[in-house]
Amino acid sequence: KLDGRATYRFFEPEMDARMQARRRLELDMRQGLARREFQLHYQPQLQLEGNRLVGCEALIRWNHPERGMISPLDFIPLAEEIGLIVPIGEWVMRQACRDAMTWPTPLTVAVNVSPAQFKSERLVEMVMSALAASGLPATRLEVEITEGVLLQENAKTLQTLHRLRELGVRVSMDDFGTGYSSLSYLRSFPFDKIKIDRSFVSDLSANRDGVAIIRAIAGLGKSLGMTTVAEGVETHDQMERIRTEGCTDVQGYLISRPVSATELLAFLSSEHPPC
Ligand code: C2E
Ligand code: MG
Ligand code: MG
Ligand code: MG
Repeated sequence: KLDGRATYRFFEPEMDARMQARRRLELDMRQGLARREFQLHYQPQLQLEGNRLVGCEALIRWNHPERGMISPLDFIPLAEEIGLIVPIGEWVMRQACRDAMTWPTPLTVAVNVSPAQFKSERLVEMVMSALAASGLPATRLEVEITEGVLLQENAKTLQTLHRLRELGVRVSMDDFGTGYSSLSYLRSFPFDKIKIDRSFVSDLSANRDGVAIIRAIAGLGKSLGMTTVAEGVETHDQMERIRTEGCTDVQGYLISRPVSATELLAFLSSEHPPC
């Protein structure tokens, strides 16, 4: 008992500092949402056949008044934990649909949707409302989910995915290959697109197993009738290998870093092909 108490007291100041930082971040996020400090950047996706831009992924940024630009990796996890991802995700969906309306017509917009948003009852209605308010056809919207969404695999999650699909929205499996059972998820839902995690793309140059894995996923996608996008393509060499192995699309710094909506419009109207 005494030991327990001593241990508790030992950790207390550190715990307290962590809890305070969390609490601060939470308050800042709530305020940030109200004060419109969040922004979307867009990263183009290129279809290899014909070297055509086919869409862009929306990636959230937080322009914090004191801390500057904050990466989603530093606030999305807490936003998910405390449920704040629901209003943040709704803002992302509405803004992304509005922005996509300013792009040339066939281009799609991909929006990341997190597990906590699937738990909220309103996801499908929220998506329908964002589409209606912006005028964007459902077929130009794509939702990207990670295996976290399917981990809590239950009838409700699958039903939500099917309802989105019935609207005409496309569904992508993000970060494919990094989870525990990526393959079984392909069996539970007919995704439109597989996004191969960028760790496999960086392995391409490092070892021959990297090539074998990309080849296998590209083949799988082809057999299942799914588009396969290689994420994190940074070099011409990687892009050529990916093309050879049969992936259909690429996304990465080689084509473009994620850019602001304004920069994207300039990029889209530039005369020069991206590669
Ligand atoms: P993700 O959905 O897998 O997005 C791809 C990430 O890879 C982005 O990081 C992008 O900037 C980065 N990336 C793209 N090309 C390259 C490349 O060639 N090299 C390297 N090294 N990185 C590249 P970002 O923007 O920091 O986003 C990180 C993650 O945060 C995203 O991973 C996604 O899971 C999450 N996220 C971003 N925006 C949202 C959002 O609006 N809602 C939700 N729920 N999650 C989001
Ligand atoms: Mg994504
Ligand atoms: Mg990804
Ligand atoms: Mg990711």
